[in-house]
Amino acid sequence: EAKKAGRDRHGFYRAELNQRVQAQMAVERELREALARDEFELHYQPQIGATRGELLGCEALIRWRHPVRGLVGPLHFIPAAEQAGLIGEIGAWVVRAACAQIAQWKADGLAFGCVAVNLSAHEFRDRGLVDIVREAMREHGVRPDEFEIEITETVLMTEQASLSIVADLQGLGIHIAVDDFGTGYSSLAYLKRLRPRTIKIDRSFLKDLPDDEDDRVVVEAIVGIAHALHIDVVAEGVETEAQRDYLREAGCHILQGYLIARPADAQQYARWLADRPPDIVSA
Ligand code: C2E
Ligand code: MG
Ligand code: MG
Ligand code: MG
Repeated sequence: EAKKAGRDRHGFYRAELNQRVQAQMAVERELREALARDEFELHYQPQIGATRGELLGCEALIRWRHPVRGLVGPLHFIPAAEQAGLIGEIGAWVVRAACAQIAQWKADGLAFGCVAVNLSAHEFRDRGLVDIVREAMREHGVRPDEFEIEITETVLMTEQASLSIVADLQGLGIHIAVDDFGTGYSSLAYLKRLRPRTIKIDRSFLKDLPDDEDDRVVVEAIVGIAHALHIDVVAEGVETEAQRDYLREAGCHILQGYLIARPADAQQYARWLADRPPDIVSA
C-alpha cells in the first residue's frame, strides 16, 4: 500500500514537473515568436527638472503588443524571458529600438533630452552587452549624453562581472542610473565605487508622502547621501501635487510619474514632445 502511494506521489510530481516544463517551453516559444514578429514596443515616460519643469529626458519601458491579449506589461513577461534565457535578445532589441527612436526624433527636429533603458541583472553576465550598446549607438548616431542605462542594486550583488561591464559602459560615456533605490541590498560602498549619475527612489517610498514621517526620513536621507556624492535623485511614481511639492522641497532633482505624464507609445509621445507647454511645473 505504502509503496503504491509512494509511486503515485512520484507520478504526480512528475506530471506536475512536466506541466511546468511544458508551460515554460510554451512561454519561451511565444517570446521567440514575439521577437521574430516584432511584437515588442517601447513606451516613453518623461522626466523633468523638479524646480523648473524643463524636459530632461524619458524612460523607455517595454510592452508586448500581443495579437490576442493586447498590450502586455513587462512584469508579465520579463521574468519568463529571464528564465527562458531570452532576456539577452530582448535587451539587445530594447537598446537598438531606443537608439533608432533617438535618431527618428532628431530627424523630426524634436528635443527629447536623454533616453534611459532598463536592463536586467542577467544581461550583466555577458560582455557582449557592451558591444551591442556601442554598435547600436554608432549605427544610429547616438551621442553618449543622449543615452542612459538603468540597473538595479541587485545587479551588482548577484553578477560577478557586472562592475567591470558597468565600467566599460561608462567608458563609452553613457550615464548609469540606479533604479528602485532602497529596495535591494543597498550598499553605500557601491555608490561610491560605481558613481552613477542618478539614483531613482522607488515608488514604494513615495506613495504615502508627504504624510508618512518614516517615508519622509528615508527620502531625506537618500537625498542627503546623493547630494554629498554629487549624484542626482529621481523621484519615480509622482502622482500628486502634494508629493511633487514635498519632493521638490526635499531637494529631489528630477521628477517622473503620472502627474507629469503616463508612459505613451512613440506616436503619442512625439505629439506630447511637440505640444508640450514650455513649463509644466510652475516654478
Ligand atoms: P521601473 O524601471 O522601476 O519602471 C517604472 C514603472 O513605474 C513603470 O512600470 C511605470 O509605468 C511605472 N510608473 C511610472 N510612473 C508611475 C506613477 O505615477 N504611478 C504608478 N502607479 N506607476 C508609475 P512598467 O512599465 O509596468 O514597468 C515595470 C518594470 O518592468 C520596470 O520598473 C522595469 O523594472 C521593468 N522593465 C520595463 N521595461 C523594461 C525593459 O525594456 N527591459 C527590462 N529588462 N525590464 C524592463
Ligand atoms: Mg526603470
Ligand atoms: Mg524604478
Ligand atoms: Mg521597478
